Amino acid sequence: MKLLGVIGDPIEHSLSPELFDYLFKALQVEGRYDPYRVTPEGLEDFVRTSRLGGLLGFNVTIPHKESIIPFLDDVAEDARRLGAVNTVVNADDKGMVGHNTDLDGFLRPLRERNVSLAGQHAVVLGAGGAARAVAHGLGKLDAAHVTVANRTEARARALTEALDSGPSVEACALDDPALAESLRQARLLVNATSVGMHPHDDASPLDPTEAPLHADLVVYDLVYRPLRTQLLADAASHHADPIDGLEMLIGQALHALRLWLPDTPAVSWSLRDDLRAYLRGKLLDDEAPAE
Ligand code: NAP
Repeated sequence: MKLLGVIGDPIEHSLSPELFDYLFKALQVEGRYDPYRVTPEGLEDFVRTSRLGGLLGFNVTIPHKESIIPFLDDVAEDARRLGAVNTVVNADDKGMVGHNTDLDGFLRPLRERNVSLAGQHAVVLGAGGAARAVAHGLGKLDAAHVTVANRTEARARALTEALDSGPSVEACALDDPALAESLRQARLLVNATSVGMHPHDDASPLDPTEAPLHADLVVYDLVYRPLRTQLLADAASHHADPIDGLEMLIGQALHALRLWLPDTPAVSWSLRDDLRAYLRGKLLDDEAPAE
């Protein structure tokens, strides 16, 4: 039996156990994927005991993506550059190795839609761990210019200063009036803040009366609970092209699966579609008001 899981605090709302259970059944993998609530104080102990206890690996979510690094034996290149780990592989010969599959998960839906950012402007809202992965990803897509807007402007500045190569970057506050002009010129807008997450479903990081969303804009919201966020609803009403957070969740999970179980057959397009429909149903069920 392949034992896997996800650690975080809180962890009960994670969709990953349902995602991997579905994949294991479809791929006929004898596997188990469990959620583990691990507090910051219990993190080092969890890594040590999981190394010995037969866990093949685990995902890492808030608040441990950065703080887990000192407890690992090695960290792969992308995770090192991002300073964040979301997947740990318990490799027999190398010990506990940290990876970051958020970057690949973020890029995959854009590549699959052939969204070309070469020479284009992108706007990222947020400056936390997810925004860091997004900003690095935009460099890989050859974006020419990236604006990072964050509630705490100093964090946006720190993020842009840490980007060592790639697009030209600027930082601003989320309520900076100049953001409207950046949006007007942008091909891609990414929400990497937690604004709009359940239970604040009506909240949006942008005021639609001030933020000029437009039909040439791709609006990518990393939030997936709710699936159709207020920002995506505003995007739809301006005929912008929406991408929801479930796409990234699935993308990062498939990359983690390849790291843990490299001999598992590739996940076909039709299985991806079925998985997406299944998870979509789960999320919409959760969102439906109780009778
Ligand atoms: P994080 O490191 O805690 O960063 C949170 C970000 O949200 C910060 O930029 C913070 O701004 C901003 N923020 C929080 N409350 C705000 C408010 N009331 N008004 C304006 N800005 C606010 O979290 P993270 O790991 O980057 O995650 C960010 C979001 O991405 C979460 O919703 C997470 O679920 C989502 N995510 C999705 C996936 C996926 O697979 N779909 C993967 C990773 C993350 P300050 O700096 O000012 O505090």
